[in-house]
Amino acid sequence: MDFRFNEKEEAFRREVESFIKTELPANWTEKNIYWPGGYGTLSEFEEVNTQIEQFRRKLAEKGWLTISWSKEYGGAGRTNIEQAIFHERMSYYRAPGGEVATLIGGPTIMLFGSDEMKKEWLPRIARGEARFWLAYSEPNSGSDLASIQTRAVEDGDDLIINGQKIWGTAAHVSHYAWMIARTDPNVAPHRGITLLMVDNQSSGVTIRPLMNICGTHSFNEVFFDNVRVPKKNIVGEKNKGWYYVMVALDFERLVIPIGGFKRTFEEITEYARETKHNGQPLTQNPLIRNKLAAMAIEIEVAYMFFWQTAWMLDKGLIPNIEASVLKLFTTQLSQKLANTGMQVMGHYGPLERNSKWASLIGRVPAGYMDCISALVGAGTSEIQRNIIAMRGLGLPRP
Ligand SMILES: Cc1cc2nc3c(=O)[nH]c(=O)nc-3n(C[C@H](O)[C@H](O)[C@H](O)COP(=O)(O)OP(=O)(O)OC[C@H]3O[C@@H](n4cnc5c(N)ncnc54)[C@H](O)[C@@H]3O)c2cc1C
Repeated sequence: MDFRFNEKEEAFRREVESFIKTELPANWTEKNIYWPGGYGTLSEFEEVNTQIEQFRRKLAEKGWLTISWSKEYGGAGRTNIEQAIFHERMSYYRAPGGEVATLIGGPTIMLFGSDEMKKEWLPRIARGEARFWLAYSEPNSGSDLASIQTRAVEDGDDLIINGQKIWGTAAHVSHYAWMIARTDPNVAPHRGITLLMVDNQSSGVTIRPLMNICGTHSFNEVFFDNVRVPKKNIVGEKNKGWYYVMVALDFERLVIPIGGFKRTFEEITEYARETKHNGQPLTQNPLIRNKLAAMAIEIEVAYMFFWQTAWMLDKGLIPNIEASVLKLFTTQLSQKLANTGMQVMGHYGPLERNSKWASLIGRVPAGYMDCISALVGAGTSEIQRNIIAMRGLGLPRP
């Protein structure tokens, strides 16, 4: 088997690389504390957010927020492999790129939305003008998502929404909730759920911050009090939302900052090369060498899974078990990489970025805390294993 890219793909890779190097602010990659797989690093600095906004606008102008979408909908008409090449390079440089609407909502609308919905929403998403947050979880519904209680009741051409969502990542900096609500309480739980988009600015929406383990405002709890939403915002058919969300979750599980693992690993390895202990570089220590070699293998395996899912999408297949495998494997990798970083750095490992002795600007201790949540968001590791056991191995439902 030959895993090499073809000439067109190689040329695109070079184009992406050169764009990133030209357009990213100076030293962005080195200064950015983002941990691959982590959630807790939304910036609260206005200057940084303005830079992110400017960079995203440039991506949108090239159709690169939605690379694999057709030009008709504002994309760049490229293959999924090319999109994966793009994500790999972007995450390697810790560059800000897609979000819920471009990576999850848009692709789901493409599959299940009406033609009118596609024409209305997809170009706006591709231009970066309609940003979504995921309004799935509720205080009593996480893994058992089909038990959601938020209600959407028909009223003429509208739906009236009442209920509460929680853990809405980036809800406070998004435009629309990509939401599931119960539209029929009298059928089996998963048969009475509808998927729709709700404007954050609607009357009756209240967004309250929740601080995460890294001390960052990334989560929110969001209350819906008699919120009126036009029925035309329903994705696909009413009461079929559960099936659409299962596909949307597969798209979410494919969003892997694969290049970020490689970059961070290279930095940790470099640290081991440059740091001496008892007069010897850390790379001479057999225990450190073992840990680094083990990490290198896992990163290589993650890359294989990553390219495989992109290849499947180009074949018209929706990676389902593969999405769960990729999500499970890479979130565990996120945690193992943080552990390895801590072990390589020894006593210097836990020093945070404000310490003058901190190495790698304190990225490792921040990632060490941040990566815990990677194993929970987008479905916990246990849920991914359940999916793999049931759909992949054909084992009975527990
Ligand atoms: C960083 C982060 C970002 C998030 N972002 C969002 C977001 O933007 N929007 C959103 O809607 N939600 C978001 N979530 C919420 C996330 O989807 C839920 O936390 C997750 O689905 C788990 O639900 P729970 O927290 O209610 O835990 P529970 O479902 O109560 O699970 C508790 C424990 O029991 C285990 N468990 C539960 N059921 C089973 C089972 N059947 N078999 C085996 N073990 C089981 C779980 O694995 C877990 O260890 C986010 C969460 C995190 C951590």
